[in-house]
Amino acid sequence: MASVDTSLHFDVEKIRADFPILKRKVNDKPLVYFDNAATSQTPQQVIDVIVDYYSRYNANIHRGVHALSQEATDAYEQARIKIQKHFNIPNAYQTLFTSGTTHGINMVASGFASILEAGDEVIVSALEHHSNIVPWQMLCEKTGAQLKVIPMLENGTLDMQAFDRLLSEKTKLVFVNHVSNALGTVNPIEELISKTHNVGGAVLVDGAQAAPHIKADLQALDVDFYVVSAHKMCGPTGVGMLYGKEEWLTKLPPYQGGGEMIDQVTFEKTTYAGLPHKFEAGTPNICGGIAFGAALDYMNAIGFDQIAEYEHELLEYATSRLKAIDGLRIYGDIPNKTAVISFNIKGVHPYDMGTILDKLGIAVRTGHHCAQPIMDFYKIPGTVRASFAFYNTKDEIDTLIAGVERARNMLV
Ligand SMILES: *Cc1c(COP(=O)(O)O)cnc(C)c1O
Repeated sequence: MASVDTSLHFDVEKIRADFPILKRKVNDKPLVYFDNAATSQTPQQVIDVIVDYYSRYNANIHRGVHALSQEATDAYEQARIKIQKHFNIPNAYQTLFTSGTTHGINMVASGFASILEAGDEVIVSALEHHSNIVPWQMLCEKTGAQLKVIPMLENGTLDMQAFDRLLSEKTKLVFVNHVSNALGTVNPIEELISKTHNVGGAVLVDGAQAAPHIKADLQALDVDFYVVSAHKMCGPTGVGMLYGKEEWLTKLPPYQGGGEMIDQVTFEKTTYAGLPHKFEAGTPNICGGIAFGAALDYMNAIGFDQIAEYEHELLEYATSRLKAIDGLRIYGDIPNKTAVISFNIKGVHPYDMGTILDKLGIAVRTGHHCAQPIMDFYKIPGTVRASFAFYNTKDEIDTLIAGVERARNMLV
């Protein structure tokens, strides 16, 4: 593939103009927002869709024959199709709306409670977010299945040889994130999926951290379940997507009982609605779903290849400048990662660094990033994490570098 210098075409100033929050000042300094792995910012195009929904056609969906309800239903179902197309999902009814990644994971975990038996094994990776550890621990407690962990290596990648040893015909489920939120490591999910299928197990991939950077083709991946949150990819909070293979969605019992998820209800027996309604009890986040679709439109108009290439430039620039700082260590400094840098400076607590950076208007995340096992591995209380989006700039990275150097001089 010929490589094109997209930086020539990538007009970051034009993109930044779409994000009203980027004009803000924090502590009298221009905001430098480097906490994109926690949540991304929202472009005016998506804000407009939200305002338009509540201004013009707010109504409950799938219930009324009146015009507003029809309009809301159409917009919500169109958004589902946008999400389906984006992730190359075979059918719209396999594209389930959730309240976010955590919700999607819990839906699958609770469904497997009626499938797993004592003696079965469930494998998670050491690079997981807490939301991809705790539900499986709860599931194993309930079913008597055993939880196994793929260990990590010093460079922040998974020990794939250890994974080979963990796999057996007892393996029913493997849970792994596509990209680690704490380190940015891109995991070899193709290999994890095919090897798990070889022993007859299913794989759930947590795509929360990958989706803002990588357009995943879920049919090509042959993954069994994939979950994302809209708020990490320019959409609103409180909405996400769960994809499941049809055989699994048919097999798993409903997650919640309530309106929308039934076919017939009598006091003797209730029969469930078909997909996707079986998993969508109650009034959903209608506006959020519609805005999620708009966020995908926005990002696709820029282009995921362009986004990935530009972010990689930011990552390389920031990595080389940070590495030049005395006593600074980057965790998981490998080529195959998204634009996330987790670091510490010898003798500086990450919280103190974060506080000084905040005074300078720079938003980074400090702490364990909901991934305490990774911090335990490195024997550290946490890290400073700078995570970049396509609307960030090299100038902002220069501001970060100056801030880190200033903090280092104050604290060491
Ligand atoms: C953010 C994140 C989650 C949790 O997402 P919610 O939107 O809080 O449910 C799970 N896994 C990873 C990898 C994440 O980055």
